[in-house]
Amino acid sequence: MDVLVLSNSYIPLRRVPWQQAFGYVFAGRAEIVETYIGRDVRSSSASWPMPSIVRFVRRTAGLFKRQVKFSRRMVYLRDGGRCQYCATALTLKSFTIDHIVPRSKGGQTAWENVTTACLPCNQKKADRTPRQAHMKLLTKPRKPRSLGGPGGLLRWHNGMPEGWKIYLGHRG
Ligand SMILES: [Zn+2]
Repeated sequence: MDVLVLSNSYIPLRRVPWQQAFGYVFAGRAEIVETYIGRDVRSSSASWPMPSIVRFVRRTAGLFKRQVKFSRRMVYLRDGGRCQYCATALTLKSFTIDHIVPRSKGGQTAWENVTTACLPCNQKKADRTPRQAHMKLLTKPRKPRSLGGPGGLLRWHNGMPEGWKIYLGHRG
């Protein structure tokens, strides 16, 4: 079970496994905002309702910013899971990472120089810059500022608990 973690000002930060959310609560860093109905966390001597949403009790500026670590998966999430040359929707298994300035030309593996690409676009572009390959990027790659909040990476989708909707800005 995943838990939605909110900042003290109710901005969604990320989703974490319930064990981690429980850790925040036990450490006094977070409070439970909502629980899953009919689900309990049990120890040998007690049981607690399973949290669905927790909120940090103090300001957490920078806490999660530091945790936007560079990874293939985060590049995929940043780019909405789409090839940034042809807009094809890709799966976590089928996407590739394109170095905009190719590594052979000194391009670095960094947020600003990588983008999500489908295999055909990646192969077509090959060892060239987008300009040389006459290919245009749909978005300018940036380092994500945080994992959540407006325009963040944490978006509502079906299958998430209903109670999360309001915090993830989902309407309807
Ligand atoms: Zn493509």
